[in-house]
Amino acid sequence: MSKFQALREQARSLDQADPLAPIRAQFELPADQVYLCGNSLGALPRTVPDRIHQVVTEEWGQHQVSAWNRDHWWTAPERVGEAIAPLLGAGPGQVVVSDSTSINLFKCYLAGARLRPGRTLIVTDPGAFPTDQYVLSGAAPLAQLSIVTATPAEIPQLLRDRGSEIAVVSLSQVDYRTGELWDLGGLTALIRQAGALSLWDLCHSAGVVEPDLDHHLVDFAVGCGYKYLSGGPGAPSFVYVAERHHAALEQPLTGWHGHARPFAMAGDYQAAPGISQLRVGSPPMLSLLALEAALTVFHDVSLAATHTKARALTEFFAQAAADLGQPLNLASPHDPARRAAQLSLRHPAAFGVVQALARRGVIGDFREPNIVRLGFAPLYTRFADALLAANALVQVLEAAEFTALDSLGRDPTSIVT
Ligand SMILES: *Cc1c(COP(=O)(O)O)cnc(C)c1O
Repeated sequence: MSKFQALREQARSLDQADPLAPIRAQFELPADQVYLCGNSLGALPRTVPDRIHQVVTEEWGQHQVSAWNRDHWWTAPERVGEAIAPLLGAGPGQVVVSDSTSINLFKCYLAGARLRPGRTLIVTDPGAFPTDQYVLSGAAPLAQLSIVTATPAEIPQLLRDRGSEIAVVSLSQVDYRTGELWDLGGLTALIRQAGALSLWDLCHSAGVVEPDLDHHLVDFAVGCGYKYLSGGPGAPSFVYVAERHHAALEQPLTGWHGHARPFAMAGDYQAAPGISQLRVGSPPMLSLLALEAALTVFHDVSLAATHTKARALTEFFAQAAADLGQPLNLASPHDPARRAAQLSLRHPAAFGVVQALARRGVIGDFREPNIVRLGFAPLYTRFADALLAANALVQVLEAAEFTALDSLGRDPTSIVT
């Protein structure tokens, strides 16, 4: 039996034993592709098109403005937040869907700082996703905060040295480039011991790893609706604020949807009680209701199972590439326990590798400066897909198919997918 045949047998038995395998049928996936970009834009759940059609033709078309009440549009941000809460390990009344992750970061940076008056530092990871850093550079001066950068590995020492000066520590549970999974529980406990507040960005973990927010006494969390949650392009973001902070909270974007009595049209702002005060203005209703329809794929899904499968997929992919003759230069941690659903490789012609893979029907993406990023969304990626992708990668590397493609220019809008 050839190496490939042996791997095919292995993939078949892994797929047969996979408790999540039946869920793939709930997604719309092009037949001729292996889609490893669900960490960027989650695949389309089949529930979404019909629901959007209904929202447009019936609710908007026929019910018109009455749909805000009749079809419960007004309360959708809280309702969809409640649907996401179990995926975060959050009890009721602490998650709302509103705005984008960038905007929710802004709210949380400043709301956190206001809960810790007298502390002058706010901490972020120098490797954090750029928007997390850009928004912080705009927000910090508004609260007279100085920004300190530290990687998650450096946080314990920083807290020992300057913990009493720190208002908020903002970190991502999963590094968007390397896929490294950080110890949310352990770091949150240290942040808390220092009297600071934790803010976790869950963009690359929500829907794969359960962050157990309540259990770990996390203070704030944000994350995208369009990555593993499959809410669709530009789907609104979720924001979590622990209930113990609600009474004293002052988030800075005081819009009418976050008002205690929005239709009183009062002259002054009075925050709504509870998590609703994180709302700002009219939500993008089509996107919000698409996200709600998408979340039905998570019914009865255990996040222990998604994380286990995701790790197994990344492990199998790396093993298959090695067995087929191309051991991978991983940017991700070698220990699968320190990974979520993403595997990143370093290659000097990473951009060309991503292009060459796309020509072979394997869709990943490129991240500066030399990273090939592959996301193994556990609800719809099969072990058979991981094998096809590994085989394609081996061929791309062996035949140096990336050479001509790497010079195409790195404008992401030119990426052939
Ligand atoms: C994808 C991502 C974002 C995106 O923010 P938007 O406001 O939705 O564009 C922010 N932070 C992280 C860590 C991400 O991975």
